[in-house]
Amino acid sequence: MKQLKLAEPRGICGGVRRALTLLDGIRQQQAGDIYVLHEIVHNNFVIRKLKAQGVHFVEDLAAVPDGATVVFSAHGVPPAVGQEAVRRGLRIVDATCPLVKRLQCAAVESVENGEMTILIGHRDHPEVIGVLGQRPGRIRLLEDAAGIGALPPFTGPVRVLCQTTLDTEWIGRLLALLRERYPQLIADAGVCFATGERQAAVRQLAAEVEAMIVVGSPRSSNSNRLRDIAAERVPAWLIDVPEDLAKIDLTAFRVIGLTAGASVPDELSQAVIGALAAYGFAAD
Ligand code: SF4
Repeated sequence: MKQLKLAEPRGICGGVRRALTLLDGIRQQQAGDIYVLHEIVHNNFVIRKLKAQGVHFVEDLAAVPDGATVVFSAHGVPPAVGQEAVRRGLRIVDATCPLVKRLQCAAVESVENGEMTILIGHRDHPEVIGVLGQRPGRIRLLEDAAGIGALPPFTGPVRVLCQTTLDTEWIGRLLALLRERYPQLIADAGVCFATGERQAAVRQLAAEVEAMIVVGSPRSSNSNRLRDIAAERVPAWLIDVPEDLAKIDLTAFRVIGLTAGASVPDELSQAVIGALAAYGFAAD
């Protein structure tokens, strides 16, 4: 039998578990339609299952009927969205992860204190849209090192925040470059501990295996970072469902590793681990 090594920790984080528990609670309590603004978490398996149970996913508040229940996803929303939902008399259930809330609050505080506020993140990600929307036009988005040159000079305090699911080592390199430009830089809220722990586990495991499977959906930022980190050392694949294993040639490997993104439920990770047995891999 070939060997399958499992990263620890891996898979669903506290924020995702909380969001799904909240949604489950409302489904038990009320009979009416429930609308979730954006994917509650970025995982296709979870979304498919919830859709089959009758939950509606919409990308715009305008698609939620008046008086209905709307759930804000774990990634958070800009205040303008919450205000619009209140104005329309929607019943709001806020499943924003508390660590994303903390990031939003840090952004508001920084702007109110007159600092230059920089957010490192991906422009189109809902979490980033939610943070930028806390103080529209007052928070500067930095997507990569190439963007540093476009930031304006500033003599006061500069606070740097970052999206919770980015690569901790990449952030460290970016902060070092930013510090050359702004010596008075303050690095604040950012990559969450759940993301950091999963990345550290993958870095460690990648040194012990010949290839790595990362369970997670293509839209999941943290899952993509896990795949990227693993791929720095060994061949690595992001797979959405157990059936995706059929697209990968694992015949050359005797020891492989497996991890899962923070939005992946245990049930899905276990299904992939079970499916790997058909390819001759058994977990320790
Ligand atoms: S990855 Fe971190 S910030 Fe995102 S939901 Fe999980 S705990 Fe919250």
